[in-house]
Amino acid sequence: MHELSLADGMLKTVLEAAQKEKAKKIKSIKLEMGEILLVNSEQLTFCFDVISKGTIAEDAKLDITFLKPRVHCNKCNKEFNISSDKDFPILSMICECGSNDVTILSGREFNIKSIKIEED
Ligand SMILES: [Zn+2]
Repeated sequence: MHELSLADGMLKTVLEAAQKEKAKKIKSIKLEMGEILLVNSEQLTFCFDVISKGTIAEDAKLDITFLKPRVHCNKCNKEFNISSDKDFPILSMICECGSNDVTILSGREFNIKSIKIEED
């Protein structure tokens, strides 16, 4: 599952960062995700809850911001944002000119922006 591998990578990163800060507990994690990743935030939260059990990240809140993907049309050279529906993330990548020959400029981000910790 896509979400599980993302949650796993995220957990490793935040635990490492928290260890450096000598954190006692991770309270929340702020994330930025490109919509092209097609991550289901509920599934991601669920996976994270499961794998973080017994670690200092247990019960940490995930604060997720979705970033709109930006694409470039190779036919008319226009740049535009594409939108998707949260529940049915079917991305429409067709330019106003009717072309679907587009290059994805951004939208695949998966950034851990910050974590909130409780210090010892
Ligand atoms: Zn175009």
